[in-house]
Amino acid sequence: MMRSFLPNCDDINALMHCANQDCRKKAEPFTLKMCTACRSVSYCNVDCQRTHRKNHKHHCNQGAQTLKECAQSLKECGEYFATKHHDTKEKSDDADDDNDDFFQPILPQDDCPICTLPLPIDGSGQSYNECCGNILCSSCGNEDMRVTYERGLIPCCAFCRQPNPLSYNETFVRIKKRMDINDSTAIFIASQCYEFGNSGRPKNPQKAFELCLRAAELGHPKACNTVSYYYSDGVGVPKDMAKSREYEVKAVKRGDIKARYNIGLSEQEKDNFRLASRHWLISAAAGHKDSLEMIAESYKIKLVTKKEYSTALFSYRNVHKDEWSIERETTVVDAYNCAQEKDHKIDS
Ligand SMILES: [Zn+2]
Ligand SMILES: [Zn+2]
Ligand SMILES: [Zn+2]
Ligand SMILES: [Zn+2]
Repeated sequence: MMRSFLPNCDDINALMHCANQDCRKKAEPFTLKMCTACRSVSYCNVDCQRTHRKNHKHHCNQGAQTLKECAQSLKECGEYFATKHHDTKEKSDDADDDNDDFFQPILPQDDCPICTLPLPIDGSGQSYNECCGNILCSSCGNEDMRVTYERGLIPCCAFCRQPNPLSYNETFVRIKKRMDINDSTAIFIASQCYEFGNSGRPKNPQKAFELCLRAAELGHPKACNTVSYYYSDGVGVPKDMAKSREYEVKAVKRGDIKARYNIGLSEQEKDNFRLASRHWLISAAAGHKDSLEMIAESYKIKLVTKKEYSTALFSYRNVHKDEWSIERETTVVDAYNCAQEKDHKIDS
């Protein structure tokens, strides 16, 4: 979880020692108590804080002023995101892909059609229903399963109520039907089945590549990223780094969060640190945890400004705030499963 109280201090060492000179006790980061006024020094207890008060006063006032400015900037950032105006004019000088749609923010995922909450951005906690082509969040799926089980009903799709398939073949027949109407998710899922030999399909890299390419051409973001990987690793197609790059860029433009993070990594490898940070600012703002961590690092070495960092952090929190209820409900279902396990033990 993100800390709600960020330190107002670039030097993590300062927060790992009690600021009282007579004490200087060392502790793990964030285990000491931060001065709440300035959040730039820590103490082991109130006594240490009191002893240090006289020396700290001037520094504390300065720190409190910075915090105030930061809070103001955070507020502005919130308003800025609320109006959904994003700066696309800023050009980078070392990007070969630099054009207007390359540095656009990642749009939120579609909503779960049942609970209307946005689906998790990283593709976790959701499942594709090949009956109706809907992607449902796991908590809606789990809740439906619980009720079905409780009432002794036939398991079926929580959305369209079609009974669940009873065999791999039946599943694949449904996927094929969806493929016939150019459902890019169904095509991508089929390609994955052929890559890994899932759902009763034989492993077939060529077929996996062909299907994935078809899904990518239909605009499926994850398929674009996967095609890029097929080209770079020579899976089902001869290696072609130029093509790999082409599809990586496509994935980024289509809003694939992982592709955005990875392209940041490859810029970092080329020593394009500022450009890397620009990519991570986008993926962090869309809710990608690893990207946010990269931005925190970049902020420490002043590659991103405090305003950029707080904007990304603000947006990151907002994205995950919406997901909170998904997590909560999943926990409820887990608790339910535990209770069931206990019941079974009592039965036997
Ligand atoms: Zn102390
Ligand atoms: Zn202070
Ligand atoms: Zn849902
Ligand atoms: Zn359905």
